[in-house]
Amino acid sequence: MTSQTPSDCLFCKIVAGEIPDDRVAESDRSIAFRDIKPAAPVHVLVVPRRHEPTVGALAAASDEDLADIFRLAARVAEQEGVPDAYRMIVNTGTAAGQTVFHAHVHVLAGAAFTEGRMV
Ligand code: AMP
Ligand code: ZN
Repeated sequence: MTSQTPSDCLFCKIVAGEIPDDRVAESDRSIAFRDIKPAAPVHVLVVPRRHEPTVGALAAASDEDLADIFRLAARVAEQEGVPDAYRMIVNTGTAAGQTVFHAHVHVLAGAAFTEGRMV
């Protein structure tokens, strides 16, 4: 379990303001910004300010930080006008498509959910 902020972590740099982002919302524990390569008309990443490599590690480290990313995701969906029509995706591990090893939730909306899948 770790809450250090690795100097080579992309999302730690965004949290620290060292790399610009398209911010849509934030709380004292989390930030939300648009994905640089959107897979749907609404594609926002919700990221805890605390560094943990996966959402599972975040859950083990802090109930409050875990709850906050879901609270902020719901707020984002409201702001984006899709409070009852959005999907959240969490990739864990390279084999499952995780490319940034700082916990995050994808909030996706605005596209048809074909066969139950969007991405
Ligand atoms: P994952 O593949 O689940 O680890 O998700 C990482 C996401 O971060 C991908 O959807 C990328 O498009 C996105 N991403 C990478 N770099 C940036 C960036 N600088 N700003 C916003 N999103 C980014
Ligand atoms: Zn990080």
